[in-house]
Amino acid sequence: MATDNDLLNRTRAAVWHPCTQMKQLEAAPPLAIARGEGAWLIDPDGRRYLDAISSWWVNLFGHCNPRINAAIIDQLGKIEHVMLAGATHVPVVELSERLAALTGLGHAFYGSDGASATEIALKMSAHYWRNSGRPEKNCFISLKNGYHGETVGALSVTDIPLFKDTYAPLLRHSVQVPTPDSRLAEPGETAEAYALRCANALEAHLAENAATTAAFIVEPLVQGAAGMAMYHPAYLTRARELCDRYQVHLIADEIAVGFGRTGTMFACEQALLPSPSGRGAGGEGAGAGSDNAWRFSNHPAESIEFARQLRRNQTEAESLLWRHLRNRNLGCKFRRQHPMPPYTLDFFCQDAAMVIELDGGQHADSERDRRRDEWLAERGLRVLRFWNHEVLQDAESVLQAIWNALHEPARPHPHPLSPGERGDTAFPSQGAGSRGPGAGVPGIRPDFICLSKGITGGYLPLSAVLTTDDVYAAFYGDATARGFLHSHSYTGNPLACRAALAVLDIFEHDQVIAANRAKSIEFTRVLAEVAAHPRVRHFRHLGMIWAFDVADATPGFSTRFHRAALALGVFMRPVGNTVYVMPPYVTSADDMRGLAGAMLRCLDNPAI
Ligand SMILES: *Cc1c(COP(=O)(O)O)cnc(C)c1O
Repeated sequence: MATDNDLLNRTRAAVWHPCTQMKQLEAAPPLAIARGEGAWLIDPDGRRYLDAISSWWVNLFGHCNPRINAAIIDQLGKIEHVMLAGATHVPVVELSERLAALTGLGHAFYGSDGASATEIALKMSAHYWRNSGRPEKNCFISLKNGYHGETVGALSVTDIPLFKDTYAPLLRHSVQVPTPDSRLAEPGETAEAYALRCANALEAHLAENAATTAAFIVEPLVQGAAGMAMYHPAYLTRARELCDRYQVHLIADEIAVGFGRTGTMFACEQALLPSPSGRGAGGEGAGAGSDNAWRFSNHPAESIEFARQLRRNQTEAESLLWRHLRNRNLGCKFRRQHPMPPYTLDFFCQDAAMVIELDGGQHADSERDRRRDEWLAERGLRVLRFWNHEVLQDAESVLQAIWNALHEPARPHPHPLSPGERGDTAFPSQGAGSRGPGAGVPGIRPDFICLSKGITGGYLPLSAVLTTDDVYAAFYGDATARGFLHSHSYTGNPLACRAALAVLDIFEHDQVIAANRAKSIEFTRVLAEVAAHPRVRHFRHLGMIWAFDVADATPGFSTRFHRAALALGVFMRPVGNTVYVMPPYVTSADDMRGLAGAMLRCLDNPAI
């Protein structure tokens, strides 16, 4: 066995480490890791380090996870790799199906790293416009301080000066719009108000430049490489509306935030749609073949306040009707928010085969409603629709109408449905009003979603881009050049896909999203003393991410903090003056207490 020093000399001579000035390795050698165990990294001498940043945000369920190991070992005995052009295999098909069900998008295209996913999404978007007869739509917008990877195409939409400036001559110009990073709000301004102010700047840019813009690429809710900058989901809701209105693709780069990091499976789920008829929209592409093209493009410019009022009405109307349906004897038991993929039904009575839907009025999309009603009718279900204001203003008449409908002669029921048919997934939805993945994906639906990092639980390089039926259809035809012209040798690698499938199994079986909700609250409590430390500013938290800025940090802070934490058995890498914690989901409260103690000791040391 190589001694520690021997290995460090060899790594310096043979390995060019990423994001590293190699000369600095003389003074600060990298940590040699021999083994891993859960949330812990173990060096050749058996010293243990808590992997507080999930090995660059990729690890979800710990190192050497027995279930992921077993899946890969099983796959090794079958086929390790086969090219995906002209061949296919079960792991890639199954993974594509499951990712589609989770995201409400489909047609998974695979790459190996996050950056390659960005490249794929950018190329697909521009190629879509070219295939649609609008080749001049080929420019991209991203957020100030955004990060989307470091290959030349991805770097051109990344806005981190340290990574970008040196290579500027190689890059294609892209435009950065103001970041909704809530730290930048004016005193007294809420995060939401600031986010909406930034959305106005996005709108101003789109109003001028939509004709030449292919897509807006964004890290939903958290700009990771910018230093875990967090922002209000209203920005995403508004960005979705604006992209629809101006016919620009929305690319959600969920490479870092996907797979539960922000508390929902995907961050986009937290961006609520302002309109009731849009709420279930995310799920429609999953199986029902939606055209989804520019959902809001027919709507007049609506103010955010108006949209909010509609949402409030929807909630109030739903609660009011629910109270009546429960308390009145209609001779029929309704369930609220009944999942029936790809839809979620507002109210459903199995015995009467009846669905009641509430709509907001101005936002209602009659074409989509019609398709949805047809879909329900095919399943022998009758749909009653009421406006929210009808319920709010005259609930009695609404109940009378329901009563009358219930007492019409019943029609035959061609497709008996079990209440949980496909819909009762292991992912509980967030609250009464939101819908869990698989039950019609809640939140906004981007035109492209980029996934990587956590997708394999941190085991193997894999990335995927999923998109809408509309985008897919624009590539479908006889001409080869109309098809998507892109490939990587290891596209859809079976071992990586099996690791990803094992990860999805763990999410389902262990109800990870729900378990993390409790963990997230507990860990925040554990970190309360850190949050209150006099050097700490902007302590922030979302899901399984915590971050804060150190007020008086001087140059070299990040390195000093890293070294000091390492000496205390914690592996962390602050970004500038931002310290963040992004632990594997298997981290225990005890691990977290140890981590909090280590961070406090670092903060207490004025020399760091
Ligand atoms: C890490 C990251 C990427 C790039 O992924 P790589 O696998 O490092 O190429 C892209 N976008 C975001 C948001 C990331 O955090």
